Amino acid sequence: MHSTVQPEPTLERFLMHIGGESREAAGGRWLETNNPYTGRPWALIPRAGAEDVDLAVRTAHEAFSTGPWSRMTPSDRGLLMYRLADLIAANAERLADLEVRDNGKLRVEMLGQMKYLPRWFQYYGGLADKIEGSVTPVDKADMFHYVAYEPLGVVGAITPWNSPLLLTAWKLAPALAAGNTVVVKPSEFASVSMLALARLFEEAGFPPGVVNVVTGLGHEAGEPLVEHPLVARVAFTGGNIGGRKIYEAAAKRFKRVSLELGGKSPNIVFADADLDAAVDGVISGIFAAGGQTCMAGSRLLLQSSIHDRFLDMLVKRMVEARLGDPNSPDTDIGPVATEQQLAKVLDYIDIARRDGARCVLGGTRSTRQGCTEGWFIEPTIFADVTNDMRIAREEVFGPLLSVLRFETEEEAVALANDTPFGLAAGVWTSDLGRAMTIPKRLTAGTVWINAYRVVSYLAPFGGFKESGIGRENGQAAIMEYLETKSVYIRTKPARSNPFTLQ
Ligand code: NAD
Repeated sequence: MHSTVQPEPTLERFLMHIGGESREAAGGRWLETNNPYTGRPWALIPRAGAEDVDLAVRTAHEAFSTGPWSRMTPSDRGLLMYRLADLIAANAERLADLEVRDNGKLRVEMLGQMKYLPRWFQYYGGLADKIEGSVTPVDKADMFHYVAYEPLGVVGAITPWNSPLLLTAWKLAPALAAGNTVVVKPSEFASVSMLALARLFEEAGFPPGVVNVVTGLGHEAGEPLVEHPLVARVAFTGGNIGGRKIYEAAAKRFKRVSLELGGKSPNIVFADADLDAAVDGVISGIFAAGGQTCMAGSRLLLQSSIHDRFLDMLVKRMVEARLGDPNSPDTDIGPVATEQQLAKVLDYIDIARRDGARCVLGGTRSTRQGCTEGWFIEPTIFADVTNDMRIAREEVFGPLLSVLRFETEEEAVALANDTPFGLAAGVWTSDLGRAMTIPKRLTAGTVWINAYRVVSYLAPFGGFKESGIGRENGQAAIMEYLETKSVYIRTKPARSNPFTLQ
């Protein structure tokens, strides 16, 4: 639970980043940020309010409209992004350490993400000077017409705790390449790595004010950012409750938004699959990162003929999974990120039991040695789940797998699509025809065949249905940070009837 505190000397203090300067919150308030492995606070972050957000947005707006950033060529913007990529690579270990302390995910996972992060800035840095307009062969005499793409202004980026910098990069890199300026509001549970990253922007040569960071709670710092009249676009990754509020607030001002929300993704295993590989894929879908990923394969759909055998294989593998210190290379599963999340997952375990699902693994808070202080949950598998149960319909965001049974491909597709979400789906099969045809039948933004939890800066990512609006990554994502301008120029003086459309 977060508490507002006066700073104690023992807790490290991190400052916000506005206009290239380090700042406390105007109100002088702080939030504790906790280490999920110890269950104790380890640092303090400023608890910003509307006044701080206003300052950050005005600073970003000034940098956008009159600062050196506004006069910089796209090629030069790209070069800054390359330099930033190098700095991130040089600081990868430190950034990974900060993320592990804040969200409890495995160091090996966070370090992998930090080493991959520079690619986003390199890729979009390379795209910065390749945004070409076009000349239209317009059907008007003596008229020249062209299309130009222009940055929007200030982008508000609001991000969750599970992969703090990776998910911020998905927004920052295309937004900056397109020429916008940005105010980031990271999760109150995992802000520290973003505060550390912010300092690297000026070191790379970005003018002050191009990237600003305010920290604090969703309703105190996030809402004023979404509502600020100088914020042109909101890029949000998070849960559906916050996402809905943001969509409504943005609609009031017709703001552009992208929403990367939750999921209840199916991982479908057919009898003809390589079952060992499928077991790995199912584990990576739901137990990697303790199930705290938007794309978690939280519904396992098993073909009846292999149901019992596959479940046995999966349980045997998971019994051996090691819970513990996320910094240890021997650990497979760390704690969940917050105390609230711990309570929420335990709640869903109770709900599953009440709804009649059969617990075949875990189902409790962990009492293993080294796991009692932090927020550890035993990897949990429920069999005999039906698709109307709450654990099959609602996002849990923890190490809880719901197992369902199907007979035919028709039935598998129907079950897979019968969900309000549509973020991702995995399919395990050795039938080439099925591998080629099933993606089209699944209502999901990403489909993996014989793979799970693969992402790339080159591949669009986003959701169908309640999993969100818009796409991140890939070439098209940069267009989400640009407005299209249509320009007509008369090339020869002429007069025409002013009372009719020309
Ligand atoms: P969350 O929605 O609670 O918080 C996300 C961010 O939004 C935080 O910075 C929070 O302070 C802010 N926020 C919350 N309410 C707000 C409001 N009304 N106005 C403005 N800002 C507000 O999400 P979380 O618990 O941090 O993260 C977990 C959720 O994120 C899960 O639902 C998960 O599926 C989703 N997620 C989605 C993706 C994706 O790409 N689709 C990726 C990762 C996580």
